[in-house]
Amino acid sequence: MYIGGEFVNSTSGIKLESRCPGNNEVIGLFPEAGVSEVNQAVDAAFDCFNDGEWSDVKNSVNRGRLLREIGAKLRDRVDEFAELESLDSGKTITESSLIDVHMAADTFEYYADLSSQIYGDVLPVPANVLDFTLREPLGVCGAIAAWNFPLLFAAWKIAPALATGNTVVYKPAELTSLSSLELCKIFDEVFLPAGTVNIVTGTGAIVGQAINDHPKISKVSFTGSTKVGKIIQERASKTLKKVTLELGGKSPNIVFSSADINNAVSGALNAVFFNGGQCCIAGTRLLLQDSIYDEFLEQLVQRAKKIKVGEPLDWDARMGPVISAHQRDQILNYIESARDEGCKILCGGGEPSEKPNPNGFYIEPTIIEVPNNQVTVCQEEIFGPVLSVLKFSDEEEALKIANDTEYGLASGVWTQDIKQAFRVGKKIQAGQVWINQYLTLSPFAPHGGYKKSGFGKDLSKYCLDEYTQIKNIFVDLEDGEYICLYE
Ligand code: NAD
Repeated sequence: MYIGGEFVNSTSGIKLESRCPGNNEVIGLFPEAGVSEVNQAVDAAFDCFNDGEWSDVKNSVNRGRLLREIGAKLRDRVDEFAELESLDSGKTITESSLIDVHMAADTFEYYADLSSQIYGDVLPVPANVLDFTLREPLGVCGAIAAWNFPLLFAAWKIAPALATGNTVVYKPAELTSLSSLELCKIFDEVFLPAGTVNIVTGTGAIVGQAINDHPKISKVSFTGSTKVGKIIQERASKTLKKVTLELGGKSPNIVFSSADINNAVSGALNAVFFNGGQCCIAGTRLLLQDSIYDEFLEQLVQRAKKIKVGEPLDWDARMGPVISAHQRDQILNYIESARDEGCKILCGGGEPSEKPNPNGFYIEPTIIEVPNNQVTVCQEEIFGPVLSVLKFSDEEEALKIANDTEYGLASGVWTQDIKQAFRVGKKIQAGQVWINQYLTLSPFAPHGGYKKSGFGKDLSKYCLDEYTQIKNIFVDLEDGEYICLYE
């Protein structure tokens, strides 16, 4: 782990195993921290923040320089990080090397540029005063992340916190901690001041909870399930922490009859099978207008059947294994529930007959025709390569089905009718709407949900609000002229 600028073990000496989901072999060991390591990390981050130098506005250009250097070093080591990320998480090497590592670097660079652009306003108070605001850091920010985009989440949480002058205690998911630990070597190489970033590995129940409960931590940024998100918010209230929650989704992807069918089929496949469907923003409910339903489904199923499921380091694979045996079994149970509820499996529906590796956790790309939006696979997050397909007749019905979910993370709209695109986009209850596209994220654009998908934004300039607090300074410019009621 990385605490106070030192690489350390846990005091208990206990290690956790990281296993490759592609073959279930152990690829690394890492320390299992306890509460005492969280306390050490928080103390290091607290001391560093209170020292004042790191967070001082005079240091903003230096903070930007350090973030840029981290981005550059990540780019120098794309192949190495991509391989580690794929082995640890199971995602295909194509995905981690073309997307994840580059976007992590992009994120550090984006916030490098913003670090000297964080300022308040001068306010036109109607009196002879100078009233202005300062945008100040919060202090020690805790961050707890899910396992599906390990390196990216480390970048998404750490870069904006540092750009705004905070210090950080970060816990990666226990299933995929290795790339975050590797990132610490880069922090060390660029001489990030000791205590600015501390990475503590271990379980949610111990390390996550200790971060969430710690009185010296001012804010917790959480990415994970809605179930744990509720615990985070409830427990954080005991110390009145600021909380941001990036939670689950059950996102609709709506295709109208005027859409470019070929592009929309590509978009629908991308929406649900990217990262083996283990994406919070996955477009898992495909809504097709009745007039194009049969033609669209035929193309979709044909192309889904051709997706190569392979081992994480197979460059030809377009889908890797899912993260664990537990996750595989959960996904298979959902597919079984669909069968029980009268749905029709159009392709996939189980483990591949010839698994890329007999010990890995592989699931076929699965498409299910469902009778209505009330079936379990349309209401609950599956977090696997499973698409439910629904039919609608008009815009009103499409919106009704799209919004009939407790989640509100992302959505897609496919149409050549520009007015329809805006109309529908505005009425979807979700934090993200892609029009004639699905899945592209950028550090420039906010990411975060509505409804039970959480609140607060990761990425973009909006995220700076989550890591700063506003101080108002009021300067009286007319000595003794203000009204005093107490002569
Ligand atoms: P999870 O909620 O089980 O775990 C997330 C993190 O919380 C892990 O680091 C875990 O160790 C920790 N944790 C668990 N219990 C805790 C507790 N009591 N106190 C503090 N920390 C605790 O989620 P997961 O299985 O790792 O990830 C999958 C979920 O994450 C899905 O629901 C998915 O939609 C969601 N997700 C959301 C986003 C987003 O940006 N909205 C992104 C990725 C994943």
